[in-house]
Amino acid sequence: MFDYVIVGAGFSGAVLAERLARVRNRKVLIVEKRGHIAGNAYDRYDDKGLMIHQYGPHIFHTRVKYVWDYLSEFTDWHLYHHHVLGSIDGRQVPIPFNLNTLRALLPAELADKLEQKLVLTFGYNVKVPILKLRETDDEDLRWLADFVYEKIFLHYTTKQWGMKPEDLDPTVTGRVPVYISKDDRYFQDAFQGIPKQGYTAMFERMLDHPNIKLLLNTDYREVLQTDWSRNEFKLFGSPYAGKLIFTGKIDELFDYEYGELPYRSLRFDFQTLDQERFQNTGTVNYPNEYDFTRITEFKHLTGQKHSYTTIVREFPQAYEKNQAGQNIPYYPIPQPHNQSLYEKYRDKAKAFERLVLLGRLAEYKYYDMDACVAKALKVFEQLS
Ligand code: FAD
Ligand code: UDP
Repeated sequence: MFDYVIVGAGFSGAVLAERLARVRNRKVLIVEKRGHIAGNAYDRYDDKGLMIHQYGPHIFHTRVKYVWDYLSEFTDWHLYHHHVLGSIDGRQVPIPFNLNTLRALLPAELADKLEQKLVLTFGYNVKVPILKLRETDDEDLRWLADFVYEKIFLHYTTKQWGMKPEDLDPTVTGRVPVYISKDDRYFQDAFQGIPKQGYTAMFERMLDHPNIKLLLNTDYREVLQTDWSRNEFKLFGSPYAGKLIFTGKIDELFDYEYGELPYRSLRFDFQTLDQERFQNTGTVNYPNEYDFTRITEFKHLTGQKHSYTTIVREFPQAYEKNQAGQNIPYYPIPQPHNQSLYEKYRDKAKAFERLVLLGRLAEYKYYDMDACVAKALKVFEQLS
């Protein structure tokens, strides 16, 4: 009956379902354990009628035009360029650390000298990861690197991940590099925005096709049995000869055979306030104060007009798969030994040609939304 079973209705699963159903006329069953589509990009109106992102603020940004064009088939955009301020030494200054941040935090003469050295050493409009900047030989730049590391990265990262920046893959802090520029935006990608009616509405349009059946509130194990030793699947109790696209946790798929992959989780604290505005930008980061990392005010992102406003604070926490409130694996933890463990699972998966692993959890990769879309479109081209 079904050519494809897709586990998970987030970006990875939904893009592939849409393409297979619409372009290849394949019959697709999506099995999603949550009560809604859109995965971690799910948004909804709260009790006061304010649009919120239930699993944390999601800003779409990409350099890749075909990814933007593809999603634009299902949504119009509220064109929005994200700005983040960091609360540092009692001031709110631009993040990523840039030439404006330098001037805001340091005396003019010192800022002049450091700006000149930065531009002469690295060039203008260049991004330098903090761990790279710390390797510099120049004494003044080394001082600056330590200053930025201490004020912006060390304590935020310790809260977010429970470890220091240098204990994680450098690409993690490299996401927010020191930017030798006066561009205060968080992302410089050519295409940026928030779906005009929201992410969930965009996903509804993607999945609205007679070839797509959606089972919500269903863990895949309730309907699909996998016998890896015999390379056999059963769907609703009957042999299933089709393909399985899996976007859940790869360690779960193989019953934790080689042990658990670690993830980082979050607790979100939403607050609706009887005031039009709470803060001056979409997000304010708090590297050195409080137990939360950042506060986001959704109205900046969505452009919604409302006399109230809703904000969310993000409290990082350990992931525990059997502990309600801590059991959503928001982030894979990029470290070499975790990557090695992931690769053991991935190598095992290679033996099963009917199995495709896709997305943040199945590939154990710190993907942004656009990367999930690009990967799903690429995989689609390889499928029959
Ligand atoms: P998911 O969205 O996690 O979807 C996987 C789905 O599979 C889930 O719905 C899950 O319920 C389901 N599933 C899992 N196991 C099972 C099972 N056993 N049975 C059935 N269903 C199952 N990206 C950006 O580009 N910009 C941002 O601003 C941004 N902000 C973020 C903020 C936060 C706090 C977080 C955590 C992530 C953010 N991201 C952002 C990343 C973005 O959320 C991911 O790139 C994207 O959602 C991944 O899509 P996915 O389909 O791979 O995974
Ligand atoms: N980071 C930091 N201070 C900041 C912002 C980011 O130390 O003010 C580090 C931190 O380790 C974080 C990583 O950079 O986890 C990536 O930040 P990003 O905003 O991309 O994280 P995400 O939005 O994916 O949670």
